[in-house]
Amino acid sequence: MKIRTRLTLQFVLIGAVIVILSSLSIYFASASFRKADFYSRLRSNSLIAARLMFEADDIDKTRVEKMEVDNPVKLHDEATIIINFRDDTLYNSDKKKLIDFDYTLIERTRLHENINFRKGIYALTSTLYTSRFDRFVVLAAATDTDGIYFLRRLRLILVMACLGSIIVFFAAGWIYAGKALKPMSDMVARAEEISISSLNLRLDEGKGSDEISKLAATFNKMLGRLEKGFYVQKDFIANASHELRTPLTAINGQLEVLMMKDRSGDEYKNALGSILDDIRSLITLTNKLLLMARTSSESDGNTFSEVRIDEVLWQAQDDIHRFNKNARVNISLHESLTDADQMVVRGDESLLRVAVANISENGCKYSPDNSVDISVSQSGGLITLTFSDKGIGIPPEEADKVLQPFYRGSNSTGIQGTGIGLALVRQIIDKHKGKINIESAPGSGTKVILTLPLSVKA
Ligand code: ADP
Repeated sequence: MKIRTRLTLQFVLIGAVIVILSSLSIYFASASFRKADFYSRLRSNSLIAARLMFEADDIDKTRVEKMEVDNPVKLHDEATIIINFRDDTLYNSDKKKLIDFDYTLIERTRLHENINFRKGIYALTSTLYTSRFDRFVVLAAATDTDGIYFLRRLRLILVMACLGSIIVFFAAGWIYAGKALKPMSDMVARAEEISISSLNLRLDEGKGSDEISKLAATFNKMLGRLEKGFYVQKDFIANASHELRTPLTAINGQLEVLMMKDRSGDEYKNALGSILDDIRSLITLTNKLLLMARTSSESDGNTFSEVRIDEVLWQAQDDIHRFNKNARVNISLHESLTDADQMVVRGDESLLRVAVANISENGCKYSPDNSVDISVSQSGGLITLTFSDKGIGIPPEEADKVLQPFYRGSNSTGIQGTGIGLALVRQIIDKHKGKINIESAPGSGTKVILTLPLSVKA
């Protein structure tokens, strides 16, 4: 069921309950008031009759008969019976035999004085009247035709009013719910317009600070993040394609030139060597791209285990030596690190090895002496790895940018690379809830500082 229909029905239900309860109270209060009023009028008429009968020295029926005919406040079908103490009927105007009395009623009246009761559509009163002659029981009966008519009209009016109110409640509820939900319907319509090609569209947040505005603002923030993420991915794909195309174009060009004519053995050898270099850099780039994808997609911490940082460093050192015999990676542990347990972090060993190797490789690559010093220390539950080189340094305005994927510094001209190394390091360190800091000045070397939380607080 739509929210609008549900709200309207709830509105109608609440309204109907209120109106019906009010109508019922009005009806029953009026009926009870009319009833009490009718009994009181009937009784006072019957007592007037009794008084007329016994007011003079003699007991005279004709005065009562005359009064009953002329009485301007005479009730419909009114009849009176007066009975004396010896149970003789002194007066009886009940021609239709409405008053069906027995002697228990007479006795009860003599004891309780006033009794009211109903018989079909007739109301009856039985009253004790004391005159100077005797004590009499005055019985009276009449139909409250006006009261019955009044109550019938009242019932009709109230039923009509209830039905009318329910219709008004329904219409008002429908309009009100429609108005209240309009911002929501607008939001839905707008959200349906947003697609991958129109991620710049935003929902109308309105001017208010109500829940719907907050929802729209939150939704817009989410769209902002998605848009940013989408463009980052798009740039990444464009850059990756470009980086992959460069060596492939080079290989293609070299092969085409090679095949133009017959070549000597040495020429083939040289060309194939150069093609091999391009293929190697393609493999390195593809591996790094795969690692980037892996680190960004794998859920955090799923593949983590206890990893000894010193072992990661030794392994990374070996890896670098294997590919570059000239590279020198010097590792020094702070004297406070006396136990291997002081260097254990929770993480992914192969990823940490890639991060350490990438920074070390850069240190060697961008330093004339082809060397990097790694110092390790720990304090406050964190282990710090500082990679220092005495190389060309990074221009200060580029210190942040070098961590972005595919960004190559202005200092990298003529030096081989893809611009993925440090971006991958940052992604790996983020995944391990660590931090990366770069301190560098052109000409005076670079310091890359990694901090990682230790598995056991030392
Ligand atoms: P690549 O080295 O393949 O260009 P990286 O992502 O590893 O890509 O590094 C990004 C940029 O940061 C490099 O192009 C270079 O300008 C700069 N850089 C990184 N490490 C150093 C360093 N140790 N010394 C000087 N510049 C560096």
